[in-house]
Amino acid sequence: MKELIREGDHSQKVADVQARLRALKLRVDDAGGYFGASTKQAVREFQQQRGILVDGIVGPNTWNELVEASWRLGDRPLYLKVPVLRGDDVLVLQSRLNALGFDAGREDGIFGRSTYEGVRAFQREYGVAEDGIFGHASHAALLGLRVDRPDTASRLREELRRLETGLAGALVMIDPGHGGSDPGEIGPNGSAEAGICWDLSLRLAERLARAGARIRFTRTEIEHPDPSERARRANAAGADLYIAIHLNAHPGGGSAEGATTFHFGGSRSGESLAEKLQEEVTSLGFKDCRSHARSYPVLRETRMPAVLVEPGFITHPDDEKRLNDPNVRSAVADAIARGVERFYEEAAS
Ligand SMILES: [Zn+2]
Repeated sequence: MKELIREGDHSQKVADVQARLRALKLRVDDAGGYFGASTKQAVREFQQQRGILVDGIVGPNTWNELVEASWRLGDRPLYLKVPVLRGDDVLVLQSRLNALGFDAGREDGIFGRSTYEGVRAFQREYGVAEDGIFGHASHAALLGLRVDRPDTASRLREELRRLETGLAGALVMIDPGHGGSDPGEIGPNGSAEAGICWDLSLRLAERLARAGARIRFTRTEIEHPDPSERARRANAAGADLYIAIHLNAHPGGGSAEGATTFHFGGSRSGESLAEKLQEEVTSLGFKDCRSHARSYPVLRETRMPAVLVEPGFITHPDDEKRLNDPNVRSAVADAIARGVERFYEEAAS
């Protein structure tokens, strides 16, 4: 699909777009086949959800995203081929396999070599013919499983550790994104991600210390250790909780804005922590881009509940402006701290 489908159009293609939007539970009130204000709004919401350019126009990129978003796990066999299979069914498969402790690689919705290896490992473990094709037999095996059944020993230790300690006395590892010669992403008005993250981290440290937590940073102000090294430092310190702070960025700017929190797919406590942080940060008025499972090294390789929070998009002028306000940064630090407190309260109850 090369042409653009936009407001004012009336065609079968518009009807197809509307059907796909509705299947994704987005509301479309326009007459069938007519691209009115309601269709445009639904397209914008979809683009926001997917983290792509939000312009309310269906071009090739948005169309591809709509097609990929339409696939449900079990709709088609998934296997390694050229060109590679892409879609939300692949994403769900990767996240389920990772949650079960099979390394299906990055959760990116692309069926590549590591997803193939993850499927084979799953098939080996669960007695399905080991052909690397995720078809009916593998799907049935997966459906028979509880995704939250015991996975790796380190994740089990994590759940236990969380119950043993309250926030007072807990060792919280704060990981300020980037640093040193790595400024991270740069906003339209020149703010560097690293500087804002560092300041947010200091404010968060102060706030959590007042609540009785012990605080360590993964890095000094002048260095930028790679993600695995940051995870290693947290593990070596025996941290009880890990909070990485970054800002989101949209290539080329765009209108994407809002707060997102990530956790490792195999960590239920990480997920619970991420949800609470997300609720608290978005209560400040940042747009809700929700919490998501990711297998980033700082989340996957750390052995304690771990989250990566991105309170806003540095590439969006409004978010950038907000985050340049020290009062807002204090409020964000307070919100993250409140999320952490709620996490420990729930563990104690
Ligand atoms: Zn970053």
